[in-house]
Amino acid sequence: MMRYLLLCLLLGCARAPAPAPAPAPAPAPAPASAVARPLLALAATCEHKMPADECTVCHPEKSAEFKARGDWCDEHVVPESHCLLCHPELKFFVLPPLPEGADMVMVSRMGEDVPSLEPFVVPGKVTVFDFYAYWCGPCKEVDAFMHGVMKDRPDIAYRKLNIFQWDSPLAKRYMTNVQSMPYLVVYGPDGKKKGEVKGIDVDALARLLE
Ligand SMILES: [Zn+2]
Ligand SMILES: [Zn+2]
Repeated sequence: MMRYLLLCLLLGCARAPAPAPAPAPAPAPAPASAVARPLLALAATCEHKMPADECTVCHPEKSAEFKARGDWCDEHVVPESHCLLCHPELKFFVLPPLPEGADMVMVSRMGEDVPSLEPFVVPGKVTVFDFYAYWCGPCKEVDAFMHGVMKDRPDIAYRKLNIFQWDSPLAKRYMTNVQSMPYLVVYGPDGKKKGEVKGIDVDALARLLE
């Protein structure tokens, strides 16, 4: 946890939302950098400073959902992804919806090991592996960016891997040299690795998608 917080301070996770998108309807597939960035809206918060719709204090019946997916801070009795005591830098965003028909698959849901990414690379598409965690604020910015990009890019396969914790089997295999999330690995349509992005760098990601 301290490691994450320290990195956030160094890397400035709490970046301001991207500027308003330019009106630029482009023929598909447009270069990712030309795709209008979705504007990240901050979620409305309740008196507990939680997203109003998801606050487990206002809506205790929602606790079970979070617990069922392992998203829970026992110490502070709120979802880990909402715990401002553990993650004071958290911001709550409203994500743009995943476009209909988007090619998104959860490869690891709770930090289970995935011995190799290769079997999940989709030939003929740009495959984006996204290592994230529920409690990672910058990861949500990348989610929002990808949801926006995929609207015009049916040739993108988005593969999500929830590391869950820094010491999960998945994190131990892939994250030993990665100091900050999200961690993205991009493969080209030829099935070869194009590059990777560590931390929040949407511009670097956009270049890899072109
Ligand atoms: Zn509340
Ligand atoms: Zn906590």
